Amino acid sequence: MTLTPLQELAKSLHDCQRCKLAKLGRSQVVFGVGNPHASIMFVGEAPGFNEDQKGEPFVGAAGKLLNDLLASAGLSRDQIYIANVIKCRPPNNRDPEQDEVETCKPFLLQQIQLIRPKLVCTLGNWATQTLLERKVGITKVKAQAFYMKDFVIFPLLHPAAALHQGNLLDTLKEDFKKLKEFLDRNTKPAETTSAAPTPAAPVLNIESPQLAQMDLFG
Ligand code: URA
Repeated sequence: MTLTPLQELAKSLHDCQRCKLAKLGRSQVVFGVGNPHASIMFVGEAPGFNEDQKGEPFVGAAGKLLNDLLASAGLSRDQIYIANVIKCRPPNNRDPEQDEVETCKPFLLQQIQLIRPKLVCTLGNWATQTLLERKVGITKVKAQAFYMKDFVIFPLLHPAAALHQGNLLDTLKEDFKKLKEFLDRNTKPAETTSAAPTPAAPVLNIESPQLAQMDLFG
């Protein structure tokens, strides 16, 4: 059976030993899951305990909250693709370390290149800073569209942050409303005649990049 380039990439990372996380108790590499033709991708930080066990991103408590938030924006998991910056669980869910991010980032970029999403929603500081390539706090940039060369980045708070600090839950819900508004503004009307075999993500029609976006970083 011939593998798609995305499947080839997953296979090549199956027993990855490139960084120290391989020897620090991970059960498996958590590559990513979802629609390989998605126009919308979500990127989290790193697998936690449940993700490490199951081999899929966002299957624990944060994942359940993410599913509800996705539904509030009219999205389901089979329409999107979900991955993490780091593909292996850091011990005791500690923060990723710089060398781990640097080792794993090229594979996230390859996933993005192969899936070719129009929109990448980064969840939390790690994903946001890694893809924006700026050390900027999530609260400063969240729920806004940043037009990059090949896709738009839409940063959001990490769902786990709202589980730890209940007062952030309302903010996160509001931010998903803003995501829905962005999607509604940028979605082509559904084609009535097409009978798509898989549940495709909304067909996004994002206008050309706005200038001076980066000035927002101050
Ligand atoms: N948090 C993340 O950032 N990613 C997961 O896959 C699960 C929890």
